[in-house]
Amino acid sequence: MSIVVENVTKLYGEQKALDNVSFNIQPGEIVGFLGPNGAGKSTMMKIITGFIPANEGKTEVCNLDVTVHPLKTKHKIGYLAEQNPLYYDMYVREYLSFIAGVFKLKNNKEIINSIIKTVGLSLEQNKKIGALSKGYKQRVGLAQALLHDPEVLILDEPTTGLDPNQLEEIRNLIKKIGSQKTVMLSTHIMQEVEAICDRVIIINKGKIVANDKTENLANIFNKKTVIKIEFESKINEKQLRSIDGVLKIEHDGENQYLIQSKTNIDIRNNLFQFAIDQNTSVLTLQKEELKLEDIFKQLTTQET
Ligand code: ADP
Ligand code: MG
Repeated sequence: MSIVVENVTKLYGEQKALDNVSFNIQPGEIVGFLGPNGAGKSTMMKIITGFIPANEGKTEVCNLDVTVHPLKTKHKIGYLAEQNPLYYDMYVREYLSFIAGVFKLKNNKEIINSIIKTVGLSLEQNKKIGALSKGYKQRVGLAQALLHDPEVLILDEPTTGLDPNQLEEIRNLIKKIGSQKTVMLSTHIMQEVEAICDRVIIINKGKIVANDKTENLANIFNKKTVIKIEFESKINEKQLRSIDGVLKIEHDGENQYLIQSKTNIDIRNNLFQFAIDQNTSVLTLQKEELKLEDIFKQLTTQET
């Protein structure tokens, strides 16, 4: 396994930022770590990269415990931290040489040349980091993470703050790099996961709420239907809720409801029969599919 996280709990004072979190990431996977702000993504990544300790649980990178082998595991990990901390007064090449020195790399020059090519910094390599656009700064951050040829890349919100063109370029770059490495990438953007990742792990309020292949997650939830219905007059909500196949009802205006139903059960006939039983009629009925965006909303807004 490239990454193993087992029952990890992290407290900041009284606050549980991570609550008994477990997941695995296999070699070669590109996994999206998705969650709203404050969900615990950066905290998890800091624990995996060995920057902060967990209160409980076990974290392994390339089958090494990160607390027992802090240096060895750091050599196996390339990390792009959330704010992409860079030295703005350094030149691109100067900075990369400095990082190469930290890792005591041999053949510095060749390695740096090759990484500069990989991340597309050839034209900017002699500029000061502070003078670069946000997209190019992000490339420098990626270059720094790749320099020591790590097996695992941990990228904390690598595309936040980029304009749409830069965003696409950096996503493509991550995909390209990801074909050779294991990548764990955090984001709060659903489309990013769909664009880049094989698998998605969703975290909310410090707990894992979903962990599946991106396409499975879409399928599972796409099968769940939502019906928008308007009755002519008031109906008994309790009885509406008890119709076979109904999972959840939500008031959506006067005599209007959003009804979520189970996969594989078409409740529309039951709804018409229900209206008759209630001595009313159906004014409108509309079937809507749940989209991936809605799943995310649902998983991360429910009470825990
Ligand atoms: P995310 O990266 O998903 O936005 P974080 O891991 O940064 O979430 O934060 C998770 C929770 O822990 C948040 O409520 C945040 O305020 C809190 N938190 C993060 N870092 C610290 C810290 N150093 N001290 C106290 N609370 C923190
Ligand atoms: Mg964060």
